[in-house]
Amino acid sequence: MNLKYTVIFYLLIYSLCYSQYTFTDKHESKIDSLISKMTLEEKVGQMTQVSLELITKEGNNRNKTEPVHIDLEKARNIILNYNVGSILNNGKAANSIENWHEIITQLQNVATKESRLKIPIIYGIDAIHGANYTLGATLFPQSIALAASRNRNLVRTSAEITALEMRASGIPWNFNPVLGLSREPYWPRFWETYGEDSFLAAEFGKEYVIGIQADDPSKPASGAACIKHYIGYSVPNNGLDRTPAWIPKRTLRDVFLPPFAEGIKAGALTVMINSGEINGIPVHSDYNLLTEILKEELGFQGFIVSDWLDVKRLHTRDGIASTPKEAVKIAVLAGIDMSMVPLDVSFAVLLKELVEEGEVQVSRIDDAVRRILRVKFILGLFDNPYPNQELITEFASEESTLFNRKAAQESITLLKNENSILPLKENTKILVTGPTANKLMYLNGGWSFVWQGNNEALYPQEKNTFYEALVDSYSSENVSYVEGVTIDKVVNIEEAVKAAENVDYIIVSLGEEPYCETPGNIFDLTLEDAQLQLVEELSKTGKPIILVLFQGRPRVINKIVNIVDAIVLGLLPGLEGADAMVDILSGKINPSGKLPFTYPKFPAGHTTYNHKPIEESKDVHYSPQWPFGFGLSYTSFEYSSLELSEAKKISDTIFVSINVTNTGNREGKEAVELFIRDLFGTVSRPVKELKGFEKIELKPGQTKNVKFIITPDQLAFHNRENKKVIEPGEFIISIKNLSKSITLN
Ligand code: BGC
Repeated sequence: MNLKYTVIFYLLIYSLCYSQYTFTDKHESKIDSLISKMTLEEKVGQMTQVSLELITKEGNNRNKTEPVHIDLEKARNIILNYNVGSILNNGKAANSIENWHEIITQLQNVATKESRLKIPIIYGIDAIHGANYTLGATLFPQSIALAASRNRNLVRTSAEITALEMRASGIPWNFNPVLGLSREPYWPRFWETYGEDSFLAAEFGKEYVIGIQADDPSKPASGAACIKHYIGYSVPNNGLDRTPAWIPKRTLRDVFLPPFAEGIKAGALTVMINSGEINGIPVHSDYNLLTEILKEELGFQGFIVSDWLDVKRLHTRDGIASTPKEAVKIAVLAGIDMSMVPLDVSFAVLLKELVEEGEVQVSRIDDAVRRILRVKFILGLFDNPYPNQELITEFASEESTLFNRKAAQESITLLKNENSILPLKENTKILVTGPTANKLMYLNGGWSFVWQGNNEALYPQEKNTFYEALVDSYSSENVSYVEGVTIDKVVNIEEAVKAAENVDYIIVSLGEEPYCETPGNIFDLTLEDAQLQLVEELSKTGKPIILVLFQGRPRVINKIVNIVDAIVLGLLPGLEGADAMVDILSGKINPSGKLPFTYPKFPAGHTTYNHKPIEESKDVHYSPQWPFGFGLSYTSFEYSSLELSEAKKISDTIFVSINVTNTGNREGKEAVELFIRDLFGTVSRPVKELKGFEKIELKPGQTKNVKFIITPDQLAFHNRENKKVIEPGEFIISIKNLSKSITLN
């Protein structure tokens, strides 16, 4: 079979395993009939989402460890008097699964037994890396770590388990995946993304959406995904959360839109909007982005939810609306279907007035309500809005925990291994020191039991911290621990130096406090002085130093890179992350992570891998600490026989084949990545763009053939007129150290 037909055959097999949800008109007549019965109050109520604390006895004074209780009087007021259609979690604390069942059952009882039209509530939650607001849930590596694995199956399966565990908690709607791109290393939500590259984010976003929704979101263990934050949130100009971004239209379409377009193609039921502004226009007010592009051009049929408070902020913060009422009008007319108000019901009250005054047409309201009801029907909430008791037996199963450890193993990236110091020898004496060595929160980061992820008491204490995992493998006689420093203060560096005298290896575990959103803003990308000082002092002992990093963004460490022997990047590997890290250090598992972002050497001048030729000049050059895609292995791989199918025209599909051989003496996994370069264009073209990746596993001496397909669309970009084009000319296709040129007319 020639190359072209072999690739088509593989794609066919792949597409058979690929079932996703596709919108149909199955529910439309029921929706028509429901809308025809609804009063205006009932309609604007459906478009309103409020926070759980508005309807609990505890309100805002929630104790983090006590169960929370629905206040039926408050719930009835919100659901029956204001017809509110959606509740969201408030992030103050996690609940037990039983507590969740009680909450959801009571809410749905009011909505579906006491309300006039019996429309179920849709409850939404940030289940970012597992059902992270349910005590005992499986908490996976955060997205940035999963992206380092380059393994689509890990993303898909982790999303499937997340869906099962959130649905087991009675919750059907997940505010994830984040499909922004981490191209700005200061940004405190860097770790919520799949990295800096558009193709990577699009591929993993698609897997995540399918993992959550399956081919039918009404299945007991599936739910609704929410792709967010549409669009451009991840690149604030100054790196700080919720500050303006300036993104040329062409870049918006070429770089930031594709992950959202793929998410929608994969059937995503909901979209959340960027809290910030682009080119001076708050995204919540942007008709072009919300209605013309998202709904009309991309054909999105689900509903758009605002982010927290963001409709109001058009007035209170952005000043583009002179009153709260005008803010509601602007947002709804721009295309917002549901407002995360979230601390009162003002949105519903003001929207009703606007319709009565003729400022907002009923047709716009009906469109929004139709979209919301559609999602409720697709989720099966009209048939059964209650928690499914049977799923509890599968919650946090042993199988899920084992899978989680695998996911963490593949997410860990080896960045330096001087003289093959790793894997560690058996029966050796180890000093472990540093601020992130002995708490679970450093492995998990934000969105873990509480919004900021920083309440250690809520983490399951039976799970290993990094220090405990080392003790498990190397015994307590062989492993000693001295804190050395906190994240930003010296504690007892001398003690650590002294303890190093009797050991074979020093493992220094550095990183960041858990954080999320604006509280995670930083003003210096360099890792805190105290942590750098710990390494500098320890290096004077002459003992081998292995640096382990648990952090959500690439903190600058250029001062210590050359004085340590090995560097292993854990990012935020989740609840099994400590054991997975020891699996890598001990050599039980061969590392296979690759950076999903460019690791900067300096706090300024950050340049992503797919930069422009002008950034390759003598003075402004791409010289990061480690490039995008970097990651070492304990074995070695050789690439050979790069072949391209014959292609002559820009409309031709290009089929690519390459052989990869494991030339070392250990079994290992390798992510094979294909890049293209469009050599000449009417606008400047990136020096390199990822267009394909596959993760393979090879035994020593084994060779595997990997195939890729480059569609014409993958060569397209937006020209000076912002029109999508493929320009004829020469393209370079490269995989690792091999490349071939192809000319298309
Ligand atoms: C975040 C969203 C999140 C929402 C609800 C906002 O502050 O920006 O990502 O989904 O809160 O918790």
